[in-house]
Amino acid sequence: MKSLKSVFIFTLLALFMLQFSSLAAAADKVKYIPLREELLEPAGAAVVWDQQSQSAWFQLRSGTVGKVTVGSGMYQLGTSTGYFPATVKLVDHIIHIPKDKQFMKAINLENAVANVLDSAHQRPAKLITVTADMETEAVEQEGDAADDPAIWVHPADPGQSLIIGANKKADPGGIEVYDLEGARLGSYGVGKMNNVDVRYNFPFGNGTIDIAASTNRTSNSINIFAIDPGTGSLADITGDHLTANMEKVYGFSLYHSKRSGKFYGFITGKEGEIEQWELYDNGNGKINGRLVREIKLGSVCEGIVSDDEYGTFYVGEENVAIWKFDAEPDGGLLPQARIDVVDGIRLHADIEGLAIYYGTDGEGYLIASSQGSDRYVIYDRQSGQYVTTFMIVDGAVDGTSETDGLDVISFGLGDHYPNGIFIAQDDSNTDAEGNQQYQNFKIVSWDAIANGADAPLLIAPQDPRQLIER
Ligand code: CA
Ligand code: CA
Ligand code: CA
Ligand code: CA
Ligand code: CA
Ligand code: CA
Repeated sequence: MKSLKSVFIFTLLALFMLQFSSLAAAADKVKYIPLREELLEPAGAAVVWDQQSQSAWFQLRSGTVGKVTVGSGMYQLGTSTGYFPATVKLVDHIIHIPKDKQFMKAINLENAVANVLDSAHQRPAKLITVTADMETEAVEQEGDAADDPAIWVHPADPGQSLIIGANKKADPGGIEVYDLEGARLGSYGVGKMNNVDVRYNFPFGNGTIDIAASTNRTSNSINIFAIDPGTGSLADITGDHLTANMEKVYGFSLYHSKRSGKFYGFITGKEGEIEQWELYDNGNGKINGRLVREIKLGSVCEGIVSDDEYGTFYVGEENVAIWKFDAEPDGGLLPQARIDVVDGIRLHADIEGLAIYYGTDGEGYLIASSQGSDRYVIYDRQSGQYVTTFMIVDGAVDGTSETDGLDVISFGLGDHYPNGIFIAQDDSNTDAEGNQQYQNFKIVSWDAIANGADAPLLIAPQDPRQLIER
């Protein structure tokens, strides 16, 4: 009897062992694939990483949201829950999911729905060509040095407005300031500066100041300057706590919330990071920062621009898409909308500079640099719909190619530019004889772009100091 019992136990044990070893063998056989690279990126999905819950949230182009969590075999897709054959894991900081037919089928189905909707709405790209009115002096460094411009409007005499350019080659590099004739007024060698932006009426001391701020790749932080309307010179008022959390800062945009009155800087990074920093007067003649939100997209992000009136920001995930987010710090981690994708039709990688044309009554445009096609793509600011595409071709001034940063202003800048300007960095600057020069920025009057379109674009000058909440 005793022996029978022990045989029974032994058999149970053996069965259990067998079960266990075959399970282990099954887990060994599970194939893993990188979630973003193999599945989500080709599908044009947005991916954000939530460090706290070790989860990747993604939004498919159909709008459906999903989630996978490292260490868990469960996934969410829309309202349903599913199970992978094994747990999700990190390999070299990259999320890998067990290859699973059911999951891949569901994603592809969602994607097919989005494709049908897209092609139904897609309008073919239209092309306007314009020539530049003027160009700035070239930078003093060879190679890829000039990156991103910003336009500062003088409060009393718009003809005295400034073009501020970021130069990413140090010594002296840094921040360059030009007048509207393109003459360099000043150069501030504070580091390898990548993107620069401007805002008005920042509460400072007993009054307000206008500021220019820029990502500094040398110090991995933000530099902030006060703009002197009297002299057009910049004073560095960078305070404390402005060093980024991410490893390498890249793009930059300022945001002046018309909801709270607060000022923020958005920093983007090469791993898809987006950091939102609140900027404030530290009471000692400087501006300090405080990190208020971190978002993480699936791949490299640079170009970013805030729409102060609608309280949103747009970011270019360079090889993937332009995303629109809520710009308030409590605006969550997922985008509100996908404006367009890099599909070689309208956008050719990289998506580089982004800028907002503020018209009156909340109208206007979002303009993006499609670096790979030497073109600029215009979207309606309210609907996000594609409007038209333009190129700056050779004229009295050479045309532009492989543009990094750009900026636009609808407000009149004196007699030369009564309806504002568009500015673009030019990768390959040449002189009248076609000789190669160092890089610079080209200026086009907005009228030329607006009147060049099949259906003329808005010419609706809006004072950037008079923006309101919409
Ligand atoms: Ca470049
Ligand atoms: Ca800029
Ligand atoms: Ca870039
Ligand atoms: Ca760039
Ligand atoms: Ca050129
Ligand atoms: Ca030139």
